[in-house]
Amino acid sequence: MSWFKRIKEGITTTEKKETPEGLWHKCPSCKHIVPSKDHMQKNYVCEQCGYHDRIGSEQYFEILFDNNEFTEINPNLSSDDPLNFVDTKKYTDRIVESQKKSGLTDAIRTAAGTIDGEGLVITCMDFTFIGGSMGSVVVKKLHVPSIIAYNINYLCS
Ligand SMILES: [Zn+2]
Repeated sequence: MSWFKRIKEGITTTEKKETPEGLWHKCPSCKHIVPSKDHMQKNYVCEQCGYHDRIGSEQYFEILFDNNEFTEINPNLSSDDPLNFVDTKKYTDRIVESQKKSGLTDAIRTAAGTIDGEGLVITCMDFTFIGGSMGSVVVKKLHVPSIIAYNINYLCS
């Protein structure tokens, strides 16, 4: 016997109300609900079942760098299309579409900051941008940190 009975016929369940975006986090594995801020402080790992959420480059940088502080290097560099590549759509259209969807300029991001007070540069591929696609800007973004690292080593030695 159920606890509640429908008084009138024809009552149907309306659409399920979702929790407001950003305030709470619901684990996709065990459905445990915690404040989003607490989930972030646990490095996006469920405290109940240990499920690891997929995170983006922004979250990696915040986790890795001291005080969650970093400076992105060349944030406006984006890939061009020297091959005029076309599969189901033009690559340039795919880039623009992914930029709008992800809010990123490219799959690769580079940031400078400190870890335990030591300065360093981290380069991160972000899956949210065309699955981490390696465009022409990847070489440029990898080259800059290597120059900075060389200069840091040169100046410190
Ligand atoms: Zn969980």
